[in-house]
Amino acid sequence: MNKYFEQLMKRIDKVMAFQAALTLFEWDAETLAPEESMTYTSKTIGILSNEYFTNLINDDVKKLIQKLSEEKEQKDLNFNQKAIVKDIKKSFKEMEHIPPAEYQAYSELTAKASGIWSKARQKKCFTDYSPTLEEIIYYLKKFAGYRGRKDKKPYDILLDDFEEGFNMEKLDEFFNKIKDAVISLLKEVAGKKDFVDKSYNYLHYDIDKQKEFCKYVSGYVGFDFNKGVIAESAHPFTTNIHNHDVRITNHFHENNLESAIFSIIHESGHGIYEMHIDDAITQTPVGTGTSMGMHESQSRFFENIIGRSKAFWTPLFPKLKETFPDQLKDITLDHFIKGINKAAPGLIRTEADELSYSLHIMIRYEIEKIIFEDEIKTEDLPEIWNEKYKEYLGIEPKDDGEGILQDIHWAGGSFGYFPSYAIGSAIAAQIYYHMKEIMPLEEYLTEGNLTPIREYLNTHIHKYGKTKNTNELLKEMMDEELNADYYVKYLTEKYKKLYDLN
Ligand SMILES: [Zn+2]
Repeated sequence: MNKYFEQLMKRIDKVMAFQAALTLFEWDAETLAPEESMTYTSKTIGILSNEYFTNLINDDVKKLIQKLSEEKEQKDLNFNQKAIVKDIKKSFKEMEHIPPAEYQAYSELTAKASGIWSKARQKKCFTDYSPTLEEIIYYLKKFAGYRGRKDKKPYDILLDDFEEGFNMEKLDEFFNKIKDAVISLLKEVAGKKDFVDKSYNYLHYDIDKQKEFCKYVSGYVGFDFNKGVIAESAHPFTTNIHNHDVRITNHFHENNLESAIFSIIHESGHGIYEMHIDDAITQTPVGTGTSMGMHESQSRFFENIIGRSKAFWTPLFPKLKETFPDQLKDITLDHFIKGINKAAPGLIRTEADELSYSLHIMIRYEIEKIIFEDEIKTEDLPEIWNEKYKEYLGIEPKDDGEGILQDIHWAGGSFGYFPSYAIGSAIAAQIYYHMKEIMPLEEYLTEGNLTPIREYLNTHIHKYGKTKNTNELLKEMMDEELNADYYVKYLTEKYKKLYDLN
């Protein structure tokens, strides 16, 4: 092995160890830690974040990166090693001008913020959360300035963190394409008032039985319980320590059957991605999903594109009926398929149907743009939020709880994250049309044989981790970069057929 690379990896192993510790604390905070823990644990997190930071950002690492960027040394590196050096170089460049003390203070702030957000949400009171949010935004603007990319606007810098190469110009174009199609489909769908009686979904469903069924479905789609676990949290999510320790969560509601089922299929999709990252790159900076957009494409491919299809449920529905014989005794497979695909504008993003979902994302994107582009008072944000819901979805939140306080993302400093959800849906649709061309996708699903589907994704996306970016992966797969037309086509075809529209 190249001696400079070896020296660099020795240091990076330590950085990765601190990152693993921080990931475990995050996981713990969402699953098991007591409510008041963060008041004090935030100090520990601040110290660990500082260690993470100073072990990455120092002169030794800088010299090694410089050395390894030289042509002579580059020739000595293999594909994965080059990708690792490139990734570390990028992180270094982004972080080197941030004063460590500010980084630590920011890490402590975001660790505490989720608790403050959570309490404000329970009280439905944005004012309790507003000063904390304002402080987070202040830091992010300041950090964007440190990152030495004066040619780039702060929000473009943040967007690029989640999806390399994406900026406001590209996203404006992306959302413009989707917006008109979705709004007109939603209007047509709204005309079909008696499409389906979905009351069966809100009967009483025993939680232990839900858990049992969800675990079964997770394994069915390919989540490997030798490398992964499922826990419970208010908001389902996925995290990973490495490719043999992938953790997902789920939530359960007594009076809602589909919520937990589709959450677990979604998170299993994320989990399957992380489990199939190549052993050669796990526990390195490139040993994770290539971007949030690509990650969401995998979870949404499983949850929506195949997970809400009749073919997928053909072998699975009898098992669901067996689990809940009384509640589902009069429900046929066709009825169930209509139920899980019913579209109607709602206020809550995580409960949104597949059709209106991207409008929820577009609203958040537009608000984030205002936050970083314009001078806006944080306390005025709820009003803007409510206006946008009225404009795009025709409904208005009656309080901040079902409005601006519904998402945790901003409390963690994740601005620029939301668009990845919509990008993910678009990538998933594009992959779907490609896979339909090259394999009998429906037949596999009807037979209950998901192996060839999963293996295709493993071979063409998962194993590469971050060594290739989204557009590189798509191009190698289908000779075309991300194209939102497929997503519009997918939604149009699906809802026209389902709702029998002209
Ligand atoms: Zn997700």
